[in-house]
Amino acid sequence: MDKTNNPDLRSWIEVEKGSDFPIQNLPFGIFRRPGKPPSAATRIGDTIISLHALSTHSCFKDKGFDPDVFNRPVLNDFIALGKLFGRKVRECLSALFNEDNPLLRDDTQAKEEILFPVQDVEMMMPVKVGDYTDFYSNEQHATNLGTIFRDAANALNPNWKHLPVGYHGRSSSIVISGTPIHRPKGQTKPDSSSFPEFGPTRQLDYELEVAFIAGKATLLGEPVSIAEAEDHIFGLILFNDLSARDIQKWETIPLGPFLGKDFGSIVSPWIITLDALEPFRIPGPEQQPPVLPYLSFKGNHHFDIHIEVYLQLPGQKEVRVCSTNYKNIYWNMVQQLAHQTVNGCNINVGDIYSSGTISGMDPGSYGSMIELTRNGTRPVRLPDGSERRFIEDHDTIILRGYAEKNGLRIGFGEASVTILPAKD
Ligand code: MN
Repeated sequence: MDKTNNPDLRSWIEVEKGSDFPIQNLPFGIFRRPGKPPSAATRIGDTIISLHALSTHSCFKDKGFDPDVFNRPVLNDFIALGKLFGRKVRECLSALFNEDNPLLRDDTQAKEEILFPVQDVEMMMPVKVGDYTDFYSNEQHATNLGTIFRDAANALNPNWKHLPVGYHGRSSSIVISGTPIHRPKGQTKPDSSSFPEFGPTRQLDYELEVAFIAGKATLLGEPVSIAEAEDHIFGLILFNDLSARDIQKWETIPLGPFLGKDFGSIVSPWIITLDALEPFRIPGPEQQPPVLPYLSFKGNHHFDIHIEVYLQLPGQKEVRVCSTNYKNIYWNMVQQLAHQTVNGCNINVGDIYSSGTISGMDPGSYGSMIELTRNGTRPVRLPDGSERRFIEDHDTIILRGYAEKNGLRIGFGEASVTILPAKD
């Protein structure tokens, strides 16, 4: 295990108990201060650390890369350097912010240029997203949705256990946490009617997902083997794939989701590296029937990450409506990437590959409203007496996630979105 994962490490920057961002995390993101251009950052506790400002203090000198990659509005150029450099930067940060290292700790003036309270900065999209794929890799979710849209006997399609089902999504509408989204309008067809109608969706939903960000480009025609796949994965983020179920239902046959899915997808701002998540690797479920050789993998590629959904109604306290785990995916990220590229489809740095909604076995772990309320037939009751069948205007949906073991907690922060009324 990498020494940056040592649970005993402490930083001279204050980290509150239960923080998602101890010195062992060291995620990567893009931040902006008022009136300043965006640039790269990491975070310890509630302190933002400017990697660009650090590089001007010669922190990353002689590391074999141009530290100007941190002075960009997205992380793509830094990520493209490769995992080796990402690792070097994390090691350098881990040493510099160690409680015993006086170099920056005792330099008051330098600290003023490098460190900023989290409440004084705005977080931005961490990467420029080229392409986005949404998988459908959780068996419970696929079963629940198949039961709702078809029937229990045919819930899983015949291909589901042979390949990681997915669709090509849209990257232009992927936005950073905190960006409000207007209720989309579109075509729907009520079961009682023979003709479609047009208007704001009546079945707005969220999907709790974890996505990986591609860290290494490939050439057209060259598949990524399953053994090499992790080398192409930089890190993970939380992903809320907002969905308009009534639009989705009417449009989706035969070519899959379209306008019901691409009006806004929300990501958390910090990319958590696989290096930081190393202590949380676990084996996945046994896969039966056996998968084809190109999807057969060695080692552990599932991660034990607790993930949650909170709902906040206007003027109310937030309420947790889902508690589940990333380990519940059937197809893991190396299988997803090997499958995505097996036909020679090329990938680019900054591409997002999302897991699909992650549900567990019991209703408290269902990662979408359509599952939780059985397609709106059993409303969720909230502590203030109100109920929800789907998401209403001015509701806020918050995803959170963290891995925790032996006193070490590596968290994702949150991906939050408030729904605004449909535009006129
Ligand atoms: Mn999805």
